[in-house]
Amino acid sequence: KNIELNLTEYLRKENCFVYTDIAKLKQILNNLISNAVKFTRIGKVEFGCLLKKNAIEFFVKDSGIGIHKDMHEQIFERFRQVEVDTTRDFGGLGLGLSISKEYVEMLGGKIWLKSKLNEGAEFYFNIPLISDENAIDDKKQTIAVENDNFEFKTILIAEDNELNFVYLEELLSITKAKIIRAKNGLEAIELCRTNKNIDLVLMDIKMPLLNGFEATKQIKKFRPDLHIIAQTAYAFADDKLKTIESGCNDYIAKPIIEKDFFEIINKFLK
Ligand code: MN
Repeated sequence: KNIELNLTEYLRKENCFVYTDIAKLKQILNNLISNAVKFTRIGKVEFGCLLKKNAIEFFVKDSGIGIHKDMHEQIFERFRQVEVDTTRDFGGLGLGLSISKEYVEMLGGKIWLKSKLNEGAEFYFNIPLISDENAIDDKKQTIAVENDNFEFKTILIAEDNELNFVYLEELLSITKAKIIRAKNGLEAIELCRTNKNIDLVLMDIKMPLLNGFEATKQIKKFRPDLHIIAQTAYAFADDKLKTIESGCNDYIAKPIIEKDFFEIINKFLK
């Protein structure tokens, strides 16, 4: 549809845990984001989450047709659709919102919106933080024993896409490795040249200015021993060959699976 979809706020280093039903949480976000995309013709959809006092607050904002104030309560009711003229063009909100509301409430949270007709819509919901300190400690310990500690290692993530970067950074946060980022191939080369502490590079292939294949070739010229792992959505045999030819030590396919990811990281960092 040629509209932007952006993650604009997210939790990074904070230690905040929610015990929740991941399938339901995903379904709620899916419903809200697909509705937002559906009702937006031009502009953008933004989503993310913030830490509030006792909850994590999620939001999905769009620059779409908006929802009249009179409808704000009704749209969460089962089987009801927005009965404005635009329904014809956009197909109504359907069941997504009433299901989302039910799920949010099952998870102990609330859902609400801010919107005016023709001025976009902002949907919010929250999931309460867990208050049981022991439960938090248990969770931390479980994660800690499952993963290795790379406190003194530096990993360069070469990745142009914000979401992909945040995902990798989040996966790696538990290892305590120092993370640095390059947003394109040229930056990756420059960082490898100037930062001698880099132990491992996670190299995206499709990047602006210079792609991962070329960046790897260049880096290997001055740091032949640096381990470079290609991470790419290209899943064809040809491309695998190309990553190896360009000098990458290994290859991980996107979407990245946590277990495979750590297997490969451990192989090179241990
Ligand atoms: Mn990319």
